[in-house]
Amino acid sequence: LNATEVIAALKQRGHRMTSQRVAIVEEIAGAKGHISPREVTKNVQSKLPEVNASTVYRTFELLEEMGIVSHAHLERGAEYHGAGEIDHVHLVCSNCGREQAMEAVATEPLKEAISGHTGFAPDFTHFAISGLCAECLARSQ
Ligand SMILES: [Zn+2]
Ligand SMILES: [Zn+2]
Ligand SMILES: [Zn+2]
Repeated sequence: LNATEVIAALKQRGHRMTSQRVAIVEEIAGAKGHISPREVTKNVQSKLPEVNASTVYRTFELLEEMGIVSHAHLERGAEYHGAGEIDHVHLVCSNCGREQAMEAVATEPLKEAISGHTGFAPDFTHFAISGLCAECLARSQ
């Protein structure tokens, strides 16, 4: 994500760019991988203590409406990716909390099985899949 482009897109839609919103957008644009609203709030508040968490959440919602980011549900709550970056399935260990990413293409056979039975087209990228990681599984056996 490019902060300057996102700010320009927001302005174009008539949003007033306050210094708070600029700081939030810059923080979101600078994040790598998963973008957590909680982390963004913490980092922005270290520079601008008056920023509310609700302002950060509203900014994420706005950016999602604009197709700039999209959310996925992980164990610790919803987190965001740059739009088009959700090409992976999240695997979360219910024992140790370890999180892994698997390429979404690897789920094609299961997708086909589900749609063949029901006509339903599943999206495995939206919610994390919980289970046991290889290490926890080995320890439990
Ligand atoms: Zn992800
Ligand atoms: Zn959702
Ligand atoms: Zn584990």
